[in-house]
Amino acid sequence: MLVDAVEVRRSPRARRWRLEVPWGEPVRLTVPRRMSSAEIERVLARKRAWIEEQRRRQVPRLGLEGMAVSQSEARIGVRELVSMLAEEEVEPLGVAYQRIRVGDQRTLWGSCSRSGTLSFNWRLVLAPLEVLDYVVVHELCHLRVPNHSYGFWSLVELRRPRWRELRAWLCEHGPELLAFRASE
Ligand SMILES: [Zn+2]
Repeated sequence: MLVDAVEVRRSPRARRWRLEVPWGEPVRLTVPRRMSSAEIERVLARKRAWIEEQRRRQVPRLGLEGMAVSQSEARIGVRELVSMLAEEEVEPLGVAYQRIRVGDQRTLWGSCSRSGTLSFNWRLVLAPLEVLDYVVVHELCHLRVPNHSYGFWSLVELRRPRWRELRAWLCEHGPELLAFRASE
């Protein structure tokens, strides 16, 4: 890890240094204003293995940072896609939903309320369509089986035999999607 790959920020309010390894961004070291360059380099040298370990845990990058996506556009897009996909699935599944909501959930991709409201994360617009489709089918299946029992997964499997792969994609890339900041 070279020192120039690190963004050093001097902060008048920082009382001690703080090191962050944010998703898809340079390593960020915030230091008190008077901290010397030699001290900064010592901190970075000492934390080098830790920084590398943090980076290793971050999964392959999708390159989303170059994308200009506004949240309002994304919400409209997700709502349209979800409605279209859900329309195709309600009949084979024998279910009915009340409405579709698109939200800015921190950690969830989708949810299904008892009253039949299906909620989806607008960041799904960043995922492959197949993955979005899996999330829609997953939530629709909850209208039949509200838990994650064997019966639930059998139903998902019936409708989307590749669900394991799609769920794995979401596990792997989900954190990057969740960290994505819209352009507005
Ligand atoms: Zn579920």
